[in-house]
Amino acid sequence: MISKRAQSVAPSATLKISSKAKELKRQGKSIISLSAGEPDFKTPEHICDAAIQAIKDGFHGYTMNTGTPELRKSISIKLQRDNGLSYDPSQIICTNGAKQALGFSMLAMLDEGDEVIIPAPYWVSYPEMVKMADGTPVTVRTSFENNYRMSAEQLEEAITDQTKAVMLCSPSNPTGTCYTAEELEALAEVLRAHPEVNVISDEIYEYIVFEGEHIGILNVAPDLKDRTLVINGFSKGFAMTGWRLGYLAGPQAFVDAVAKIQSQETSAPSCISQKAGEAAYRGNLDAVHTMRDSFKERRNFVVEKLSAIDGVKCFKPSGAFYVFPDISHYLGTETKSGETIDSSTDLCLYLIEEHGLAAVPGDAFGEPNGIRLSYASGMDELREAINRLETGLGDLS
Ligand code: PLP
Repeated sequence: MISKRAQSVAPSATLKISSKAKELKRQGKSIISLSAGEPDFKTPEHICDAAIQAIKDGFHGYTMNTGTPELRKSISIKLQRDNGLSYDPSQIICTNGAKQALGFSMLAMLDEGDEVIIPAPYWVSYPEMVKMADGTPVTVRTSFENNYRMSAEQLEEAITDQTKAVMLCSPSNPTGTCYTAEELEALAEVLRAHPEVNVISDEIYEYIVFEGEHIGILNVAPDLKDRTLVINGFSKGFAMTGWRLGYLAGPQAFVDAVAKIQSQETSAPSCISQKAGEAAYRGNLDAVHTMRDSFKERRNFVVEKLSAIDGVKCFKPSGAFYVFPDISHYLGTETKSGETIDSSTDLCLYLIEEHGLAAVPGDAFGEPNGIRLSYASGMDELREAINRLETGLGDLS
């Protein structure tokens, strides 16, 4: 009954850890989880109020497939205000989360065998989405030394006659790394020599940037606009993960193609969420900045503590709410009960089983030497998590 396509999709690798965490919690064990990919804040009040008002006003029906004209207008204004990008509302489609904007973009862009270049460590869904659209993910392994950013040379080397697109995610999940203007400009220079290669710029963490302003590839290379998709959403910056609202801005013909797919697969996102999204972009960003400042404080704490642990290497990421320390020093070690830690997955299973700490193995993100820790948790929890990590690593020999 199950198609080859479904069989070829890897189940979410993060699921193994989170179901383990749940199982151990049910058994009454004390578990601290730094595995979540979502802010620990509530959605700002003015956004919730707009949603409540929409329900009271009887705004309950299907909206236009591409999103309400009002929301698309407010996204268009936001793209100009925050990103200096000029998009007509017709070049914007609202989706059920940025995830759907990405997934439908793959379906709209790829034919069998088309390659998509994905710098690793990558967000877990990118390669699977490419595969589900019959494309071929081509991962480019970046290095800790280069703060996990793909160089222009690496991009050039990865491009073939089959390359259809390159995926950029800045700030990045899972590393928190952000490309500098110079690095983006260098990548753009490579792309100028390959006019058939499109760019997918996932900017979902744009509001969680700690040093300077968020920079997207179109800020340094506006000439790439007619082959770039800007993907964004409300989940991370506004703490709205469950509202399922994202969008894509891009060339008109491409947005129209995505709209056709969306019209047959899901239709528009929830009407209530769309009203909330409109309020988010029409209001001020005070709450967003308060959350960002809190993430910054936690980042500083976590990076300082991690760097002090023997054998752990960690750079200070400039965005998102993740750190991705290099733990390769501990690969090949043994636990007290004689089990060998052969991989980051082994390490994370050991940490959760023996020390009650849930982290996500770098294996899930295409980088075997790291683990991802999310610091979207309270300070007390973070303190305890770092203690557990230090004890757990200290017990390995
Ligand atoms: N892109 C990245 C890099 C992410 O980390 C996530 C969520 O974890 C998404 C896209 C999807 O976000 P959403 O579908 O909640 O808008």
